[in-house]
Amino acid sequence: MDTQLLDGKAIAQKVRDEVQRDVALFVTEHGRPPGLHVVLVGDDPASAVYTRNKEKASVEVGMRGQLHRLDADTSEADLLALIAQLNADDAVDGILVQLPLPKGIREEKVLDAVDPRKDVDGFHPVNAGLLASGRPGLVPCTPRGSMRLLAEAGAALQGARAVVVGRSNIVGKPMAQLLLAAHATVTIAHSRSKDLPAICREAEVLVVAVGRAKMVQGDWIREGATVIDVGMNRTPEGKLCGDVDTAQAMGRAAWITPVPGGVGPMTIACLLENTVKAGRARIAAAKG
Ligand code: NAP
Repeated sequence: MDTQLLDGKAIAQKVRDEVQRDVALFVTEHGRPPGLHVVLVGDDPASAVYTRNKEKASVEVGMRGQLHRLDADTSEADLLALIAQLNADDAVDGILVQLPLPKGIREEKVLDAVDPRKDVDGFHPVNAGLLASGRPGLVPCTPRGSMRLLAEAGAALQGARAVVVGRSNIVGKPMAQLLLAAHATVTIAHSRSKDLPAICREAEVLVVAVGRAKMVQGDWIREGATVIDVGMNRTPEGKLCGDVDTAQAMGRAAWITPVPGGVGPMTIACLLENTVKAGRARIAAAKG
């Protein structure tokens, strides 16, 4: 079987172009650009790169992107005060607090403090609850981007057997909810699952979000499956790789996302989409 690579970079560019048009419309309708505020606490180098990229991407599509950099010794109270200020500011449409937070700051407390209407990461329990109940809300960006990739691959989801490996609140669980909403028959596997290779072999759609380099071997993949590799790991040589052994998957999968250049670029593109969506929904709700 010929395996096709699902080009996340190209599809993310398509999403960014769509967002750029939506931002222009937003400006015409509301007289200001959508505002995305990214909060970074501390000096973790990877987080610094991620947050800079998010700010830059938002500015590129015409939004008002702002990065708030706080010292590593910032208190939880000070961080909560900044979030309260952003919650109250009408020109702020999206708030994203970069994780992980330094020790001493309770992640749950901080995420719960973000106004759910501005929670563009979709991590607030209100948004998680809306997703689980099949109601409209803000959906986490990585699963949302992964669904777009499946759509672009033309994957038939209705009635399909889908397996999600990983059950984190930010990727695995929301991904499973979205696949369920698309009428797939969904299995969620995790570190305690028995005979993971056999579970994966059932999958017509396989989504892997574990964080273990090349864990999924070629013979775990069903012939003709569509494989979404969310993992981002470093090999001992320092190269970026996914949770799936891509070389082994070639010739078995019908479609697979490369790492890098697959799910990663979609996450930022969907963050931009979520920001416009959040702004529009909040303004519409205020009008009643
Ligand atoms: P996480 O919170 O650490 O969750 C990992 C999940 O994998 C857990 O549910 C865990 O099971 C499961 N797991 C661990 N070892 C396993 C094993 N041997 N067999 C089966 N399942 C196993 O990670 P995450 O935040 O979901 O992220 C997962 C990966 O995606 C990471 O590589 C991360 O860097 C990447 N990621 C990429 C993007 C992107 O934009 N491309 C975005 C987010 C995350 P238990 O629940 O039983 O512990």
